[in-house]
Amino acid sequence: MYYNSINNKLNIKNFINIFLKNIPKDKSLYFPFIIKKFNKIYINSLKKLNYLNFSFNIINKFINCISEEEIFLLLKNSYNKFYDKNIINFYNLENNSYLLNLNNGPTLTFKDIALQPLGIFLNFISKIINKKIIIFCATSGDTGSSAINSFKNYENIKLIIFHPFNMISNIQRKQMTTIIRKNIFNISILGNFDFTQYIIKNIFENIKKHKNYLFISVNSINWFRIILQTVYYCYSSLKLYTNKLINYYIPSGNFGNATSAFIAKKLGFPIGKIIVCNNDNNYLDNFFKKSLLLNKKLKSTISPAIDISIPSNFKRIFNKKKIKKKYINFYNNFFYSDTILNKTIINSIEYFFNIYKKIYDPHTITSITSFFNNNINNNNNIKFIVSTSYPIKFFYSIKKIIPNIKINLNIKNIFLLKEKYKIFNQNFKIIINYIKKII
Ligand SMILES: *Cc1c(COP(=O)(O)O)cnc(C)c1O
Repeated sequence: MYYNSINNKLNIKNFINIFLKNIPKDKSLYFPFIIKKFNKIYINSLKKLNYLNFSFNIINKFINCISEEEIFLLLKNSYNKFYDKNIINFYNLENNSYLLNLNNGPTLTFKDIALQPLGIFLNFISKIINKKIIIFCATSGDTGSSAINSFKNYENIKLIIFHPFNMISNIQRKQMTTIIRKNIFNISILGNFDFTQYIIKNIFENIKKHKNYLFISVNSINWFRIILQTVYYCYSSLKLYTNKLINYYIPSGNFGNATSAFIAKKLGFPIGKIIVCNNDNNYLDNFFKKSLLLNKKLKSTISPAIDISIPSNFKRIFNKKKIKKKYINFYNNFFYSDTILNKTIINSIEYFFNIYKKIYDPHTITSITSFFNNNINNNNNIKFIVSTSYPIKFFYSIKKIIPNIKINLNIKNIFLLKEKYKIFNQNFKIIINYIKKII
């Protein structure tokens, strides 16, 4: 499979090129030259495979320059630290509806499903090309700890992570800053997640090329993450498919996870509607419902991982210049959207605890609430409600709503460990100078 820049169709690259350089010169993103539907017989033949073999069969189609044996081995090593040997699992909520749990990885978030292989593949490639790799990452919470877990043991990889000060949960911060290694650097910015993303987008042209190092980003602008996530949509849709398509409710921030679902649909898997669930930061909902591209000021909420004002994967699928009613109507065949306001998120967490004795994290609750409120019932498709994190990571926010919840001992230990991180103002120049010193 070949790729091109979405702004320049003539800029054609292979997988390793785009894996090692996330952003083309024109500052847009890379996308497959063409996404072909798999044929039905091929899709059916995948039905009986376990997650690892299934994943190999999808991923292999997107990589054109690593041997099949190698791809399989790298994937196998990626998933051996998962708490559930099936990698993902789901259980019935009611009737035709299921909660899809993607959080069985070492840092208890769906992000592990993509970031574990990312570390292993990068380490492999770094040895082949004989260069060290310096990775930049902005995190609104879960990407950071997942990336650290994936990269911490590789000497030839250095990881520099930016998080917005006080805008992620205490536990999320400690999951990152208590892992003290020579190759891990945590940087806290007195600003919001948008500014940390700004740093990532602009850092590459501010640091000199180096013959022994490669600089890359592992944010959701990284294409490999998108296809690694596509796998669980292909896999889970096939598991439940008999004759009804499957709808997915997805808590959405940067739109990476929902983009993955859309690609799974384009590949021919039995996916119906993708319901994009926003909190107060509802760029996507305004786009799908009102055809508006609003540049609203970021609002900080109880669900920080989806506090994103302009989702960076938006342009992978949509062309801002073409935004007209007809264009959006076409995409409404694939996507629905919803906004769950902060107040409602808080009420819902309380409601599900009081009525069902269930505690959901403040992101998963957006998809749950959307499902119970709207239950997009114009079709009787099967529904998957996507769970993106565990409540324990948001213990303090949830404790304010449900005062008598108890803490799990594993996480408690984190509080005894020493933290290491640097704090900076929103000053790009000063930050760049610091980066130059540590790389
Ligand atoms: C990253 C994250 C999301 C948002 O995923 P996107 O791909 O950015 O839309 C949702 N929930 C949690 C818990 C996350 O960590």
